Amino acid sequence: MDILGVGFDALDLRAAVREIERRLAGERRTFVITANPEFVMLADRAPDVAALAHHADLVLPDGTGAVLASRIVGEPLPGRAPGRLLVDDLVPMLARRSLSVFLLGAAPGIAERAAAMLVRREPRLRIAGTYAGAHDRDADSVERVNAATPDVILVAFGMPRQERWIARNLDRLPTVRLAIGVGGVFDQLAGVVRVPPRVIHRVGLEWLWRLAQDPSRWRRQRVLPAFVARVIARRLRDHGQRRAPR
Ligand code: UDP
Repeated sequence: MDILGVGFDALDLRAAVREIERRLAGERRTFVITANPEFVMLADRAPDVAALAHHADLVLPDGTGAVLASRIVGEPLPGRAPGRLLVDDLVPMLARRSLSVFLLGAAPGIAERAAAMLVRREPRLRIAGTYAGAHDRDADSVERVNAATPDVILVAFGMPRQERWIARNLDRLPTVRLAIGVGGVFDQLAGVVRVPPRVIHRVGLEWLWRLAQDPSRWRRQRVLPAFVARVIARRLRDHGQRRAPR
């Protein structure tokens, strides 16, 4: 399902977890992007970001924007798969399969607190390690991660740095079979920012929740109306081209 050149997988949260588990069981290495409108707009302008979406094995709709756009395009996505809910729902499966997880990124100490929170929720979860690292010091982070030999890596350097990091380094992480850019998820797990209740996700208002928590995000969220306008314009253009006489 194409939105402004980014190919989304038509999977809701449950289907995404199932697909990831199937790929893990089949020993297929999986790079997951949860893409929000900012990502799509960036990909529309920056070929290297568009290339990241091609490189990824799964591109999931992070929030309401992508789902709304899919309706405008006329191929509705089945639902959202935001990073935090994806992590919440993957954890029991990873624990059951005894797969170990490395948390890379966020401010110093945050990944560690996020890991502790995940273990409190799911005591059988194996944490391979945590490291704040830095998005531009690859060798250092790669060494730390490889020393911990994780099966799964969650990377929180913000979008699109974390996706770039994964694309650049995944081949240098031989034990990693699943890599996901998770944005602000560690901050949420660590309690640094408040987490939207699931009901807020269900009604599609997580963007409004985040804005209410941190009004300085309005600058970033300006992209939402621009994104919707762009999707409509592209739809009208494509529709016009199809109808135009040859
Ligand atoms: N972050 C980081 N290094 C950077 C930029 C961001 O570790 O160079 C972390 C930041 O501390 C936060 C996370 O990346 O924990 C995600 O930030 P943000 O909420 O801006 O990203 P989004 O979820 O919108 O992609």
